[in-house]
Amino acid sequence: MAKRDYYEILGVERGASEGDLKKAYRRLAMKYHPDRNPDDKAAEEKFKEANEAYEVLSDASKRAAYDQYGHAGVDPQMGGGGPGGMGGANFSDIFGDVFSDFFGGARGGSRGGPQRGSDLRYTLELDLEEAVRGTNVTIRVPTLVNCKVCDGSGAKKGSSPVGCPTCGGIGQVRMQQGFFSVQQTCPRCHGSGKIIPDPCEACHGQGRVEEHKTLSVKVPAGVDTGDRIRLSGEGEAGALGGPAGDLYVVVNVREHAIFQRDGRDLFCEVPIGFVDAALGGELEVPTLDGRVKLKIPEGTQTGKLFRLRGKGVAPVRGGGPGDLMCRVAVETPVNLDKRQRELLEEFRGSLKGNSSHSPKASGWFEGVKRFFGDL
Ligand SMILES: [Zn+2]
Ligand SMILES: [Zn+2]
Repeated sequence: MAKRDYYEILGVERGASEGDLKKAYRRLAMKYHPDRNPDDKAAEEKFKEANEAYEVLSDASKRAAYDQYGHAGVDPQMGGGGPGGMGGANFSDIFGDVFSDFFGGARGGSRGGPQRGSDLRYTLELDLEEAVRGTNVTIRVPTLVNCKVCDGSGAKKGSSPVGCPTCGGIGQVRMQQGFFSVQQTCPRCHGSGKIIPDPCEACHGQGRVEEHKTLSVKVPAGVDTGDRIRLSGEGEAGALGGPAGDLYVVVNVREHAIFQRDGRDLFCEVPIGFVDAALGGELEVPTLDGRVKLKIPEGTQTGKLFRLRGKGVAPVRGGGPGDLMCRVAVETPVNLDKRQRELLEEFRGSLKGNSSHSPKASGWFEGVKRFFGDL
């Protein structure tokens, strides 16, 4: 089968620039790519043809040979190209070069260039008061920083990394699978394309060392469990001079002895004596800003909620403070002396036969009566 002219295949002039060649090839390759033309033999042929033409014309010396001698000058069967018929040695390189920007640069990105360091997470335990008011804390974080001895290169002073012999510095090795070449990250250099024959002793060739960093963190008022504070660039150092990751300080608010927080509201339980509950009175309740007086009406029952407006938490994302909800729990007196007992006995006698003093109990006994009556 007579071969078509490479310039004709790509549809360019003989004097076409490298950029024009690439453009023309890319257009054809996209059009005839087997992924887009499944089971289309003609398209596959055109795709192969364009690959071969581009492989030759994109290489200055092969292009010169082709211009002078035609196909004979570059025919792989005549010893001009690599093994594998259609220049297998270079095929995937062309592919990667031309397609990297189409396929999201998957190859370019993982190819051992500078890599951004990992983000780190640090759990910051705070007391409720600290979380509500905001605070400045100093934290110590284990992280990877650039090795100062080798300046991050990983190579011993006076030496430098050399190209990886396994992959020829490309960072990828090829596996031929039928028509396609499959790229894999080079197992020796892990994609960096470089190996370090004489590693830096301080970092064992890693270029980064583990270190504890001391950082000052400003915690804004109103944070709650799960809130994150981002410290930009305070994560791990990047590999090969890449930018550092971020540090996320995640807030965890410790349980409080008195208050439970629910968003912007606070809850607390306040015990009151049964006499105060019966007669009413003034109660001192705690708030985050100190004690405040709370008026209790006579006849207050256990479980009654009193709302103290504005005594909750102002959330970090803005808005006014919530409320403090105080739940009263009537307490039964213990350790009574003789006199106190007498008083209560006398008091009990005064209640006899009058259910109006016990609104809950009378309702409850009615229920019990009905319950047994129904059985
Ligand atoms: Zn390698
Ligand atoms: Zn080092």
